[in-house]
Amino acid sequence: MSTTMSTTGGSQQRPPLGSPMVAITDLHKEFGALHILKGINLNVSVGEVCVLLGPSGSGKSTLLRCINQLETFEAGEIRVGGERVGFAEKALPDGRLARLTERQIAAQRARVGMVFQRFNLFPHMTALQNVMEAPIHVAGVPSAQARTRAVDLLERVGMADRASHYPSELSGGQQQRVAIARAMAMDPELMLFDEPTSALDPELVGEVLAVIKDLARSGMTMVVVTHELGFAREVADQVVFMAGGVVVESGPPDQVIDHPQSPRLQDFLRSVL
Ligand code: ADP
Ligand code: MG
Repeated sequence: MSTTMSTTGGSQQRPPLGSPMVAITDLHKEFGALHILKGINLNVSVGEVCVLLGPSGSGKSTLLRCINQLETFEAGEIRVGGERVGFAEKALPDGRLARLTERQIAAQRARVGMVFQRFNLFPHMTALQNVMEAPIHVAGVPSAQARTRAVDLLERVGMADRASHYPSELSGGQQQRVAIARAMAMDPELMLFDEPTSALDPELVGEVLAVIKDLARSGMTMVVVTHELGFAREVADQVVFMAGGVVVESGPPDQVIDHPQSPRLQDFLRSVL
C-alpha cells in the first residue's frame, strides 16, 4: 500500500504541505425557511485530517456537500486549494465577473473525492469498472492506463482479488473500500468522508477505517464525518464539533475529545461512547 498517487496528471500545481486546502469563512446555508449552517468557519491545511463530529441534524453532511459543490449556499466563502468554489462565476482581475464553464466547474469538482454513508457504486459495473469509470469518461484517460491505475488502487484497498465482482457480490465493507478506490481514481487533492462506516455491520467497520487510516498516513488531506472516537483520537489533527449549524468547539483530539468544555459536547460524547 505505498503506490504514489498520480495518474490523471493534474495540470495545475498542487499547494504545498501545510498551506490552506479548505478555507471556509462565515458560511450560511438555508433550505427554504430553515437556516441550517449559521456562520461556519473552518480551515484545513494540506496533509491534515479533520474529523467532524456532531449530533444528527447539525449540518455535517450539508457542510461537506457545500465543499463539494453539491449544494449552493447563501453567504460566506469556500476556498479549495485557494480557489473559490460554490459560485458559477469567477472574479476577474479587473473586478468583472466571468461565468464559469461546465468544464471549469467539473475541474474544480475533480479536485475533491467524496465517499458517502450508503454505498454508491454503480450496480451494473464490476469493482474494476467502477474505479475506471470517471478517469475514462470524465478525465479522458486512455482505457489501458485507467485499468492499470484501477488495479493498483484496488490493490491498495485490499480488493484486487475482487476486481471482477459486482457490488451485489461484495460485503458492505468491501463495497466501501471500492468506493474509496473509486474516489481516489480521479487523483483528488482532498477527500471528504460522510459517515463512511455508519451503515456497516460492526465487524466490517475496522477494515474500512484501516483503509482511511492508510490514506491519512500517505498524506491525503481529508475531512471525515464519523462517530468513531478511537479513529478520531488516532488519526485526526483537528476535531471539529458542530451542533445546531455552528462550530461549538475545535482543536486537537486530546483537547476536544478528552477535555470537552461545553455541556453540549460533553453530552454528545457521552451519547456516542
Ligand atoms: P447531519 O449530517 O449533521 O445529520 P444534515 O446536514 O444532513 O445534518 O442536515 C441538517 C439539517 O438540514 C437537517 O435538519 C435536515 O433535515 C436539513 N436538510 C438537509 N438537506 C435538506 C434538504 N435538501 N432540504 C431541506 N432540509 C434539508
Ligand atoms: Mg449526515
